[in-house]
Amino acid sequence: MISQKYAMMPRLEIRPHSFSIITCRAVSTTTTTVTPLADSKAKPADTISLQSTWQHRAWVAAGSVAILSPLYKSISLVAMAPSPVAVFKPVIAALFGYLMADLGSGFYHWAIDNYGDASTPFFGSQIDAFQGHHKYPYTITRRQVCNNLHALARSVAFVVLPLDFLIGNNATAHAFIGACAGCIMLSQQFHAWAHEKKRKLPPIVAALQDAGVLVSRAEHATHHRSPYNSDYCIVSGVWNDFLDDLKVFETLEMILFFKLGVRPRSWSEPEKEWRVTENNQIGEDYYSFEK
Ligand SMILES: [Zn+2]
Ligand SMILES: [Zn+2]
Repeated sequence: MISQKYAMMPRLEIRPHSFSIITCRAVSTTTTTVTPLADSKAKPADTISLQSTWQHRAWVAAGSVAILSPLYKSISLVAMAPSPVAVFKPVIAALFGYLMADLGSGFYHWAIDNYGDASTPFFGSQIDAFQGHHKYPYTITRRQVCNNLHALARSVAFVVLPLDFLIGNNATAHAFIGACAGCIMLSQQFHAWAHEKKRKLPPIVAALQDAGVLVSRAEHATHHRSPYNSDYCIVSGVWNDFLDDLKVFETLEMILFFKLGVRPRSWSEPEKEWRVTENNQIGEDYYSFEK
């Protein structure tokens, strides 16, 4: 049914209308202070703080504790009664957590790239920042680590720390939670590495990107090119081809449009707004990346 509707109303037949959601204010994924830019040649990095504050570091520390705690519990429980099965189940659970983190990053990224704005309750700052990232994608590589990770670290701390107590002595569940939450918190660092030039990356990171363990620069570059509606996953990117080939996000967009009348941003404004990056210095830095 969905595919039939989609075939009957391809997105190009829907007349785009003007949004005023995307502004020249947001330039990063965790920005807290931004000055409006007068023109596309202005450097956003000059107008925002890319430095980590002690508050950022405190949230990353809390998130790290939330991740390491279940992983430590899982290892400790296995060590108390080691056996092939006792080791196998947590290892598989951790791999599953890594895969689910990539899938989750794709759905979350798609949602905040396409819906809402800075005034959206709770998610407003993340929406504003992710959409701004499309104008100045290279800025993320200049951001200090805790500045880049603190928002996700705070969410991980609030969600995972209580789970540690609820799970009890289940080594498999602890392994899943620790691996999944860890990859979610670090996804913004993987994302930053996907924007960095290969020669500036630590060799191990470049190797992991080349092996497909971390999302690659070439794969994520596709997300920043027209029509800006693919390759949303930013942990490993392993789900990207599957989701894009099956048009999962396009189908969801059509469902939301027909049910709620809400248009995703990728149907209209990104074509004009996000292309600005290709004409400024930061954009050229990124688009000329080495494959
Ligand atoms: Zn995006
Ligand atoms: Zn990006």
